[in-house]
This record gives sequence, C-alpha cells and structure tokens, in this order.
Amino acid sequence: MAVKHKRTSVRRTDFLGKEYFENLFNQVPEGIVISNNVGRVIRINAEFTRMFGYGRQEVVGCMVDDLVAPPQSFLEAMAITDCVARGEKISREGIRRRKDGSLIHVSILGVPIITHDQQVAVYGIYRDISDRKHAEESAQMEKAYLEQLVETAAEGIVMLDPEGRIILHNSEFCRMFGYPADEVKGRSVDDLIQFPDTLEEGVRLTSAVLGGGRFTVETMRRRKDGSPIQVSASGSPIVIKGRNVACYAIYRDISEIKQAQEAILASQREVLEANISLQERTRQLEVVNSQLERISNYDGLTAIPNRRYFEHFYELEWRRAWRENKWITLIMIDVDFFKAYNDRHGHLAGDDCLKQIAQALQLVNRASDLVSRYGGEEFVAVLSGTDIEGGRRIAERMQQRVHSLRLIHGDSLVGPHVTVSMGIAAQIPEAQATPAELLLRADQALYLAKSNGRDRIEEA
Ligand code: GH3
Ligand code: MG
Ligand code: MG
Repeated sequence: MAVKHKRTSVRRTDFLGKEYFENLFNQVPEGIVISNNVGRVIRINAEFTRMFGYGRQEVVGCMVDDLVAPPQSFLEAMAITDCVARGEKISREGIRRRKDGSLIHVSILGVPIITHDQQVAVYGIYRDISDRKHAEESAQMEKAYLEQLVETAAEGIVMLDPEGRIILHNSEFCRMFGYPADEVKGRSVDDLIQFPDTLEEGVRLTSAVLGGGRFTVETMRRRKDGSPIQVSASGSPIVIKGRNVACYAIYRDISEIKQAQEAILASQREVLEANISLQERTRQLEVVNSQLERISNYDGLTAIPNRRYFEHFYELEWRRAWRENKWITLIMIDVDFFKAYNDRHGHLAGDDCLKQIAQALQLVNRASDLVSRYGGEEFVAVLSGTDIEGGRRIAERMQQRVHSLRLIHGDSLVGPHVTVSMGIAAQIPEAQATPAELLLRADQALYLAKSNGRDRIEEA
C-alpha cells in the first residue's frame, strides 16, 4: 500500500512539474532556445518566436547562430555557443538579427543544462534591450553635443565642485586666462583668477552660487601672468533632484568693449565741457551716443556684429518669422584647421585672416539678414524669409568668396588655402520649436561638414 501511494505521488509531482515548467517556459519575458551540445535547436518558447519572428517548426534542427547571428557578430556568437557547449555559463550583450533581417540589441545568457553530472543541452536566454540601448545612445549623443557646445562657446566656462574646485573647463577659459589645459583641473577657481584684494568678493560669490544663488557681474580678474582682464562673469548652480551638486561660471572678455566705451565717454565729457551752442552740443552728443550703442554690438577685431547683437537680432527675427509664418535659416560657419593656421603663420596673421573672412561673408544685403561673429573662428548668418534651398545658395556663394581670397594655409589637410565648413538648418517657427533648437541643428550640420571632410556645406 505504502509503495503504491508513493508511486502515485511521484507521478503527480512529475506531471505538475512538467506543467509548471511549460507554463513558465512560455510566459517568461525572455526569448529562450534550448539547443543540443553542438548548437542545434531542440525547442524555442513563445517569446523567442515574438522576438526573432521564427515559428517553432522551422527552427528545430537548425544551428541557432545561423538563425540569429548577423554576419558582423557571427564569430562572437559562435564563440559563445562553443563556451557554453564546453560547460561554461556566459552572460553578454550583443546585436542579433530577426528573421526579417532587422537587428535588435539583446542581453544573452548561455547556460549548460546538466543532468546526472552530464551536460545534455544548453539554454540560450535572450532579453530585448533595444529600448535601453537606444536611450543610452541618445543620452551619449546629447552628452557629446553638449560637450561640443561648451567647447565651442565664445565664453570661458568652468564647472565647480562644492568646494569651488574646477571639475570641467573649456579651452576658451584657458585661452582667456592664459593657463595651459593641464594646470586647471582640480584647482580652486578663486586661486587661479582672483586678485589678492578682490579674493574675498570672489569667494563670497562662489559660495553664494554653490548655495543656490545666481549672479552676473562686470568685474576684473587676473590672467596667469598677473595682467588684469575685464570680464562679465555669471554663475549658476547645477541642481540635480533638488540638490545643489555643483555650479558653473561663465566668463566673457569685455576688455575691448570697455576700452571703447571709455574712449566714447571721454569724448562725451569733452562735448559737454566744450564752449559750443546748445544745438551743436545736442548734435555732437547724438553722434557720440550712437557710437556708444554701436560699439557694444560690434566685434572689436572684425568690425562685424558680435554674438550679443546676433542673439538680440535672432530672437526678434524668430518672432517675426513666427508671426508671418515664414522660413528662417541659420548658417553656422567655422574656419577649417584654424588652430594649425595660428601655429604656422602666427596669431597676428590669424587675426588678419579672420578679418578678411568676416568681410568675405558679408554678402547678404537685406536688412532682415545678418552675418555676425559667433566667437573665436566661428560666424553665424541669420536669413529671414529664406528656405533651405535659398540658404544653400547663399552658403555656396560665401564659400566661393572665401575660396577667392586665396589665403595661403600652410598646414591645412584639405588644400593650400584657407577654407570654411558650414552647417545649415531652416525652420518655420511654430509652438513646439525654439530658436535654441534651430541653432543646435545648424551646429550639428556644421559638425557633419567637419566630419565629412571640411570645406563643405551640410544640412540638418
Ligand atoms: P576645425 O577644422 O575642426 O574647426 O579645427 P580648428 O583648428 O579650426 O578648431 P579648434 O577649435 O581646435 O581651434 C580654433 C582655433 O581658433 C584655436 C584658437 O586659438 C583660434 N582662435 C579663436 N579666436 C581667435 C582670434 O580671435 N584670433 C586668432 N588669431 N585665433 C583665434
Ligand atoms: Mg571652432
Ligand atoms: Mg575651426
């Protein structure tokens, strides 16, 4: 009796075990394939069919790698199959192919199945991680764009840790304050660029920002060689999940503007003190005031509108294009291999080259268009009421005009003369779009022009 009872009980457990297993096998969110020791498929589950598009019948007896490994991953897939066949458990991430040829990112777990100390088969367990991979890729792209934006900015930018030490900096910061790139990281920003007698003010501002405050001040800072530099400095905290984790500071060199403003203020004083009629005084003051206005909107080196003016103009033109439902096109222009130009021909020749290029680019002549110096060796054009084809035609003419300057470049990899790369983006403004996004697109197109070989125009 006892024996009989036991046998029934064993059979029921067996039966339940198989049923549970079948249920689990077909319900799990992973695609599972069971293969024999040489990699031939014995069974697949429902998720494997959904994930790879193969029916149960068509896979039995096939090599699993022939089914799901794309050519570029074939050797890597075979190596995994080999290892698992030899009894190893393996966990990887890779790219596999569906029946229709499309690719998916998967995590792969290869597990030997061992019964009575003998390996009888292997499990291949696949999880679809495409969404995670795409999110990772777009986060990486976003990070790369942001890094590029910081690196190409016309301002010196630093990011500080809670103790005020520099975690990140761009090359304009080094250029502006005269520090080699390797002398900046980990140092206190106040030690690097404050004068001893303004140190207290600097430290106060840094700690205010680290405590969550924001500021913009026009002030003096010091270069590595001790010389003073007039800057506009802004600080903002970086808040993540409600906590101030760091802050950044942005410095704009305003020495040239300040000098010019002072010269104009001096002539203003002269006019006021001169012994002339009220009418003549008013006329002369109008002239001086309009000079003052112009000076803060113009770039000191190239004498074309500066970034500050561009930002103001672009914002206005964007709003106008929105109201009138018209195209607005941006062209970002960057001189190719300009660092090498400076290194080869000297900084003064570099300055002269920028002046000539700035003039060559000034071919738009409608009041609603503008070419300005965006910073360093970068320029930006705003074309209102112009679509992408019109923008391309203008960009091509600008490129030809730069070619025809025939400025010798001894160290360019694209030819014997100075060239520029350009990125174009166009948009009819609408509720969801922002001017910053269009600018970013033009910048991305410029990046494409650089990576496709330079001396060319690309669109985004
Ligand atoms: P790419 O083709 O990728 O644009 O290379 P690049 O060398 O032009 O770019 P990179 O950003 O490495 O270097 C830009 C150089 O432009 C470095 C900087 O010294 C120089 N530069 C920026 N502003 C001025 C300026 O006002 N005068 C001079 N002479 N050089 C400048
Ligand atoms: Mg550049
Ligand atoms: Mg350049």
